[in-house]
Amino acid sequence: MPPLVQPARALLINLRALSPNCREAARLQSQALDHPLPFLPRLGVRLHRALCQRCRRYGDQILRLRELVQAHPHGGDATPSVTLSPAARQRCERALREAAK
Ligand SMILES: [Zn+2]
Repeated sequence: MPPLVQPARALLINLRALSPNCREAARLQSQALDHPLPFLPRLGVRLHRALCQRCRRYGDQILRLRELVQAHPHGGDATPSVTLSPAARQRCERALREAAK
C-alpha cells in the first residue's frame, strides 16, 4: 500500500465527521442567514454542500427567497398584490420539504 493512502483515508474520515447530516445542514444554512456560523459548523456546511446537491439547492433557494423579501420592503402588514393559490402554496411547501431531506 502506498505510504500516503492511510493518511488520506484518515483525512477523508475526519472530513466526513465534520459534515452534518442533511437535516442539520438545512438548519445551519437557515441559521447562517441570520447569524454568522462559528468556524467548524461553517466548514461542515461547506463540506456538506460540496457533497450534497439537495442541500446546495436548498441553501441557494432560501438565500434567493431572502433576497426577494428584502427587495420588497413593504413590511409584514402590507397586502400583497399577488397571492399564491392554495395548490401553488402546497407545491412550494412540498418542494422545500423535499429539498431539506
Ligand atoms: Zn444534504
